[in-house]
Amino acid sequence: MMISLKQFLISCIRKIIPLECPLCGNTTNDGAPNTLCRDCLAQIEFIQPPYCPGCGGTLDGIFEMCSDCMKEEARRPWKNAFTIFRMRGAGRELVHAFKYQSRPDLARALAALALMRCGEAIRHEAFDLIVPVPLHWWRKMRRSYNQAEEFARAFGTIAKIPVRPLLKRKKWTGQQSRLTRKQRISNLKGAFFINRSTNLKKRAILLVDDVMTTGSTLAAAAETLLKAGAEKVCILTLARRQ
Ligand SMILES: [Zn+2]
Ligand SMILES: [Zn+2]
Repeated sequence: MMISLKQFLISCIRKIIPLECPLCGNTTNDGAPNTLCRDCLAQIEFIQPPYCPGCGGTLDGIFEMCSDCMKEEARRPWKNAFTIFRMRGAGRELVHAFKYQSRPDLARALAALALMRCGEAIRHEAFDLIVPVPLHWWRKMRRSYNQAEEFARAFGTIAKIPVRPLLKRKKWTGQQSRLTRKQRISNLKGAFFINRSTNLKKRAILLVDDVMTTGSTLAAAAETLLKAGAEKVCILTLARRQ
């Protein structure tokens, strides 16, 4: 039986780089490494335009920001927000595996999704740096990796933007989502600092995290960068709980 040149090349590549879908393990049909299969892709609820500049979610009303952002009366110190999918179904599964099931390898598939969905808009903002939201050292030690940093590094590689983990967490802030808005803000006061004497003047920064729920953590991190002189901060997250 004749096999095509493409199939032959795929079988050669498979020996070096895994071509299986990183989520379900099925063989991907297009032969591209580190990409989700068509079935998994079809189950992800990608964010559809028009986009909310407050959270990167779908703009669901007639206002400048989505109803969740309006309800939150949130501080949104960033200029723009990019999010790939909704925190539901296969998207939620993907984030859970990435965060809690020791699957830092998923970062490359997630970065490919981010480039596919938000690449053009991100290029348009001409970022100088990507900065991941840090984990508290204790949490990072227990999880052995910071998922936001893994995602940021994978995305930086394919988007060709340098990644600098400049932010550090000063204090343990616990589970933000269980607190009221007021409590969250006071809890996050002084939570971050910049660990290197890097000059951020005139820098356009893309701040990266895994999931955006209320946005309080991202707001505190963005304010730290702006206070240090950054000219512009935008945010990129994998998923939005909307
Ligand atoms: Zn799959
Ligand atoms: Zn919003």
